[in-house]
Amino acid sequence: MRKMVAGNWKMNGLQVSLKNIAELATAHDSARVDIMICPPATLLSKACEIARSLKIGAQDCHSAEHGAHTGDISANMIADCGAKAVILGHSERRANHNESDAIVRDKTSAAQSAGLTAVVCIGETLEQREAGETIAVLETQLKASIPDKVDPSRMVVAYEPVWAIGTGKIPTLEQITEAHQFCRRTLLKRFGSAANNVPLLYGGSVKASNAEEIFSLQNVDGALVGGASLAPVDFSPIIHALEATV
Ligand code: PEP
Repeated sequence: MRKMVAGNWKMNGLQVSLKNIAELATAHDSARVDIMICPPATLLSKACEIARSLKIGAQDCHSAEHGAHTGDISANMIADCGAKAVILGHSERRANHNESDAIVRDKTSAAQSAGLTAVVCIGETLEQREAGETIAVLETQLKASIPDKVDPSRMVVAYEPVWAIGTGKIPTLEQITEAHQFCRRTLLKRFGSAANNVPLLYGGSVKASNAEEIFSLQNVDGALVGGASLAPVDFSPIIHALEATV
């Protein structure tokens, strides 16, 4: 399996920010890992034009192919821009847009039907972690957010504890290991040995200073990075840290 570092720009980035993608593309021309940038939808087309070996992904899609959904974009539209993937079920979308597991599942099906790789995010809140519910939450989200008819070769799972996103707090290495091991076992049970090739990304306050120890963990195949993906000076060392493991 190719390991992956994906950058989620969230609602950040203007035309001028495309130079950061160009800079990354030049600096990591022959990377030994997949590098993906998920800019806002407004930059997708131009980002694809300058991406070279970087992959470009979107941050969300609608589950319908087209229709009366003002403000939404479909998976086909994303593929039409030249993008290869889409993040689905990010905790900010689950919280701010009331996205249920069923909605994420339908979006995952739509993404794969359009030929995209689906990067499905799961993770517990602090309340759930403190109540000892983490594994049960992950089990439910994995089961209900990923459709039965999925192509594991175009599937990525990102474990992102909600309380670690943008907070500077990260789980202990044991907690990350436990969550990733559980995800791998659950996917193997459901999809068979093909699940060994589903990259499991950790997300939540990854930066240059903690990337190496996180990437040393079993079943951590890369990272989904928010804040530290915006500037190449922060993102490049994370890419190098993952490359050092392959
Ligand atoms: C994210 O938004 O998916 C994320 C992990 O953000 P950050 O790296 O800023 O915590």
